[in-house]
Amino acid sequence: MTLASESPLRRALYRALHDPLTGLANRGLLMDQLTQALSRAARAQRRPGSVAVLFLDLDRFKLVNDSLGHAAGDDLLVEVARRLERVMRSADTVARLGGDEFVVLAEDVAGVDEAFSLARRLRDAIAVPIPVGAGQRVVVTASVGIALSATEPGLPVNPSALLWDADVAMYRAKDAGRDQIQLFEDGFRADSVGRFRSEAMLRHALDHDGLRLHYQPLVDLRTGTLTGAEALVRLEDRDGALVLPADFIPVAEETGLVVPLGAWVVAEAAAQAAAWQELQPVDAPPMTISINLSGRQLRTPGFAFEVGRAIARSGADPSHLCFEVTENTLLDAGGESLATLQGLKDLGVGLAIDDFGTGHSSLTWLRRVPADFLKVDKTFVGGVGSHPDDTAIVRAVLDLGRALGLTTVAEGVETPKQLEALRDLGCDWAQGYHLARPGPAETVTRLIKDDVRW
Ligand code: C2E
Ligand code: CA
Ligand code: CA
Repeated sequence: MTLASESPLRRALYRALHDPLTGLANRGLLMDQLTQALSRAARAQRRPGSVAVLFLDLDRFKLVNDSLGHAAGDDLLVEVARRLERVMRSADTVARLGGDEFVVLAEDVAGVDEAFSLARRLRDAIAVPIPVGAGQRVVVTASVGIALSATEPGLPVNPSALLWDADVAMYRAKDAGRDQIQLFEDGFRADSVGRFRSEAMLRHALDHDGLRLHYQPLVDLRTGTLTGAEALVRLEDRDGALVLPADFIPVAEETGLVVPLGAWVVAEAAAQAAAWQELQPVDAPPMTISINLSGRQLRTPGFAFEVGRAIARSGADPSHLCFEVTENTLLDAGGESLATLQGLKDLGVGLAIDDFGTGHSSLTWLRRVPADFLKVDKTFVGGVGSHPDDTAIVRAVLDLGRALGLTTVAEGVETPKQLEALRDLGCDWAQGYHLARPGPAETVTRLIKDDVRW
C-alpha cells in the first residue's frame, strides 16, 4: 500500500497498519500477511518450508542512540528500512516491530539455502556505512533469526508461533556473538517456552512490585561475628511463591530487563544498608552489604553515575556497600568494564570477584581489577578438608588473594568440617547454609540486635 491521499478513511487505515517512522508494515499488518501467506501455501500445496520469516535485530543500536542522539537513531532506522525494502521483492512484507527489530516475510522460498542467501543479502545491505546527522557515518550489523513454515507436509502452522520461532533464533544468533544468522531448530522450542514464561513473569514483577531481596549473612572467621550480608534477588510470582534467580536472571540479561531490575536491587540494598548502619553500635565494625552485577549492567553507559545517585539518595555510606562481579561478567562486559569498575571504586564502594575459579581469567588480568574481595567458588569449598585436591585449590586461591591484598571469602559452606578447614587455612570470611541461609531483611536485623556469634 502506498501513502494514500485519496480519503481520510484510507489515510486512517494506512496509519493503523504502518509504522509511523519508517512507513513499513507494523506488527498487525505483518501478522495479517503472514496468516494469508501460510494459508496460500497450504492451499497451493506448496512444499513445506516455503514461507520464511526473518527476524532482524540491529546489534548495539542503543549505543548509536545514546551516543549520537535520538534523531540520528531515527535516521538510521529509516535508512535500514529503505535498504531492507530494496533487497526484497514487492510481494514480500518488510515490517518494523518497534525499536530496532525488523521482520521480513518471504513467500515461496526454495528452502533453507535460499532463506540463508536472502538473510545474507539483507545483512550485506545494512552493513554499508550509513550517514546519520551532520557528516557522521555509522556501521551497523544485525543478528538474524530464520524460521521456515512447517518442514513436514500437512502440519498446521501457527503464524504467531512462526514469528516467535524466528525471534528465538535471533536471540541465539546474538548469543553466538552478534552479526550472525541462525536457523530455528526444533530443539530451541523447549527453551523458548520456558524463556517466554519467565520473561512474562519478570515483566509482571517489575511492573507490580514483585521483586524481593533476601540477604545471606557473611561471617568473619576470626571473630565469629556478623560482618556483612549478600543481597540476593527473588521474584514473587502471581501465586505468591518465590522464584530463584536461576529462573529469571538469564532472561533478564538477554532482554536487558536486568538493567531496571538491577537498579531496583541497588536502591533497595542501599536503603537497607543505611537502616542497618543506624542499628549498629557506633564502635562496631561496618557491615558490608554486597550486590551482584551482571555484564549488561556494566555495559550500560553512565552506570557508575547512576549507582552514585542511588547511593546518595539512600543515605548509605558507600564504604558499606560492595559490588560482586564474576570473571565471566567482566569478560562479557568487554574492555570498557574496567573503566566502569574504576568509576564504582571512585564512589567509595568495595568490589568483589565472585565465583572465583570457575571463569577464564588470567592472573595478569586479575591484577588489573581494582578488587577488595576474592570469593572462592562453592564448587571448591565443597571438598575442602575432605578432598586433597579441593583443599589444595582453596589453599592456593587463599594464598593468591592474600598476595594481592584481598579479603578472602569462602562461599557455600555447608558443614562444620568445611568451616574448620577454612579457619585453619586462614580464610577471612565465610558464607553458606551451615552459617545462615538467605532470608528476608528482618532475619539479619534480628542477628544484629541479638549480637549473634558463630
Ligand atoms: P551467587 O552470587 O554465587 O550467590 C550465591 C548463591 O549461592 C545464592 O543462590 C545462595 O542462596 C547460594 N548459597 C548460599 N549458601 C549456599 C550453600 O551453603 N550451599 C549452596 N549449594 N548454595 C548456597 P541464589 O540466591 O539462588 O542466587 C543465584 C545467583 O543469582 C547468584 O549467585 C547470582 O549470580 C545471581 N543473583 C542473585 N541476585 C542477583 C541480583 O540482584 N542481580 C544479579 N545480576 N544477579 C543476581
Ligand atoms: Ca555473589
Ligand atoms: Ca558466588
